[in-house]
Amino acid sequence: MTSILKTNALLGGIEAGGTKFVCAIGDPPDDIHAVERFPTTTPEETIRRSVDFFRAQPRLPDSVGIATFGPADVRPGSETYGFITGTPKAGWSNTDLAGRIRQELQCSIAFDTDVNGAAVGEHRWGAGQGKQNLLYLTIGTGFGGGALVNGQPIHGLVHPEMGHLSLPRAEGDDFEGICPFHGTCLEGMATGPAIQARFGVPAESLPSDHIAWSFVVHYLSYAVTNLILTLSPERVIMGGGVMQQEHLFPAVRSRVQSHLNGYVQARELTREIDQYIVPPGLGSRAGVLGAMALTL
Ligand code: ADP
Ligand code: ZN
Repeated sequence: MTSILKTNALLGGIEAGGTKFVCAIGDPPDDIHAVERFPTTTPEETIRRSVDFFRAQPRLPDSVGIATFGPADVRPGSETYGFITGTPKAGWSNTDLAGRIRQELQCSIAFDTDVNGAAVGEHRWGAGQGKQNLLYLTIGTGFGGGALVNGQPIHGLVHPEMGHLSLPRAEGDDFEGICPFHGTCLEGMATGPAIQARFGVPAESLPSDHIAWSFVVHYLSYAVTNLILTLSPERVIMGGGVMQQEHLFPAVRSRVQSHLNGYVQARELTREIDQYIVPPGLGSRAGVLGAMALTL
């Protein structure tokens, strides 16, 4: 892979996750000079470690992209642009993440959600190349969705919160769900922690013929169907820990086709569906490369 935009700029990226931060510096996607991961603790300590990572490099970055957990204010021009806003994550509410990094490193900052970052990175270097209208979904500890429309990430009123869609219940499913706000929303029913809460063991330990997966396929396929109907993406990328269960891909593709029932006329949704609903192209680097891609 080669950078589309070759510059001599030194780029930084911070994948700011609720569990861990990943910092990187270099000329993405191939020439990454250094990467460091550390757990997300208090804002003070975590921001300090991020700044220390960049200060320890031979040269400071010219710009840093931050792809963050949320909720966050990603609307340029807003008074609290660059803040983590009302997160349930202890200590992080109203943290000026972008402002603090900008002040410490004296460089330009790009700031967006983790999933918008991943969508931008996949669009530039990964499985979404050439697709101006792209949907990126991650199913792991939570469910996140980022979308590009006409090549631009969607922000809107706040930013999309696709993980909290309400979906019809699967037949025979009486689980009360784990979302603290909505119980049985998508995130409450079809993420790693939801599977674990329901079946008592980590999702990765369940065999591929376990009933859990038929419920997961039910919720994921309704979510993808509704998002296709809403956004009309040219490709849907599905990543995150849960999607490492490769058997989910053919099952979700086939259920999406049966929910759509031939109504949306596009060969991508019929004979080309295997190239339409796909895993990420950047693998485990999607997050931090996405953060770097936000600067371009
Ligand atoms: P995060 O969401 O924190 O970025 P991941 O995307 O790896 O991290 O998601 C972690 C969740 O995914 C955990 O709940 C875990 O149980 C689940 N998970 C991780 N690997 C697998 C797997 N191979 N199969 C099914 N579930 C998995
Ligand atoms: Zn919810």
